[in-house]
Amino acid sequence: MQGSVSGGAPSRQQALQGLAAFLPYAGRTYAAKRNFDLGAGQHRFVSGLSPDIRHRLITEEEVVATVLQAHSASAAEKFIQEVCWRTYWKGWLQQHPQVWWDYVHDLQTARDKLSTDDSLAAEVAAAERGDIGIACFDAWAKELVETGYLHNHARMWFASIWIFTLKLPWTLGADFFYRHLLDGDPASNTLSWRWVAGLHTRGKTYLARADNISDFTERRFNPSRDDLASFATPLNEDRTYVRVPLQQSDPLPVSARLVLLVTEDDLSPETWALGSAEVAGVALFKPVTCGPASSRIVRAFKIGAMADAGARSAAHWAKPVATVTTPAELAMFASAHNATAAVTTRLPVGYMQEELAHWMGSEHAVGLPIHQMQRRWDELFWPHATAGFFKLKERIPRVLEELRITKQRSAA
Ligand SMILES: Cc1cc2nc3c(=O)[nH]c(=O)nc-3n(C[C@H](O)[C@H](O)[C@H](O)COP(=O)(O)OP(=O)(O)OC[C@H]3O[C@@H](n4cnc5c(N)ncnc54)[C@H](O)[C@@H]3O)c2cc1C
Repeated sequence: MQGSVSGGAPSRQQALQGLAAFLPYAGRTYAAKRNFDLGAGQHRFVSGLSPDIRHRLITEEEVVATVLQAHSASAAEKFIQEVCWRTYWKGWLQQHPQVWWDYVHDLQTARDKLSTDDSLAAEVAAAERGDIGIACFDAWAKELVETGYLHNHARMWFASIWIFTLKLPWTLGADFFYRHLLDGDPASNTLSWRWVAGLHTRGKTYLARADNISDFTERRFNPSRDDLASFATPLNEDRTYVRVPLQQSDPLPVSARLVLLVTEDDLSPETWALGSAEVAGVALFKPVTCGPASSRIVRAFKIGAMADAGARSAAHWAKPVATVTTPAELAMFASAHNATAAVTTRLPVGYMQEELAHWMGSEHAVGLPIHQMQRRWDELFWPHATAGFFKLKERIPRVLEELRITKQRSAA
């Protein structure tokens, strides 16, 4: 595992180096071994790049293009598909934003219940401490809190045990993950929890099985069958979600002087397609102010990654860079540098988008339009994230062709 999870100050440079170091494993080795959870500090068959990709210190497009320079399309197929799972979740949530609003609402209801139901509060606290007496679950809870990372298989087992064995509210589990994961992501996290619970693919649940845990942890853990639920009845919700159309990218205003508004959702502004637009300055949207209070290591990651985006922006454009925390500060910064518009990337549904919607709602305070530009990767993939993953997966070769991400040489 090579990404930011392996330590060090988060930066684009470190993410690129992490990708380069993981490259030899990204082909057939990944396909064969990616499901093994070998324990904290031993995750060598997965990349650990998710915090970097989630915050776009490196982009999905760069990751896939780099992997295809080292491996044949068939050898890299599994890795590329996994990268596209993130795209699928984001594209799907973008078209079903009500799922997010309902999650936020239901989470608040569940939190309120914690303050009146002592027994539930004690059970949740024990689960988060890793103190329920199921060794694997307890170890994963501690690994998550200490490192900010869990292997994908462990996330599936953990969520399943939380929901079906412990019978705790899934929203509280999703929130526990979100607060502690360095890659905590509204779409991947919320929808993966919903998928385990049988709410995403209606009626299809994920059941953690003792022998599967034992096999894929190489017998580090050997839970007894009696420790775990033996069936997983899908959770129910009395709601139907209607798909809403995707928004088009806002065209960049002609001959504008732009302030780039950099958020934690896309920290590589030097790769934004700005054409010949003039950049007047770069405003960094203060990280860690959105959503629930994150853990210390998540806050440190976000602050470090944002500082890196600021340093890169200063070097790239040689223009003023400032942190802004309110619409009024953005307005002042724009006015001080004679900017006529602000631009950011299309924000995925989640806490950050909600915050920016408030800012845009207060146009008087901002005093200038904020354009949302869409990355081509999202523009081409998101329309296929309407049903199950399979539909998007089928489109991967064609979209990669459109993006001109082609095989340059054959290796593995
Ligand atoms: C209950 C649950 C909650 C999750 N919460 C999050 C979350 O908050 N944020 C998050 O980024 N991922 C989440 N995932 C997805 C997945 O577990 C992580 O993306 C993956 O484990 C990251 O580790 P890695 O970088 O070593 O992955 P690798 O195996 O090296 O995969 C390469 C890249 O592909 C993407 N990827 C791989 N698997 C998935 C997947 N199942 N879904 C989406 N993207 C994937 C990631 O960008 C990852 O960096 C969750 C999964 C489950 C089951």
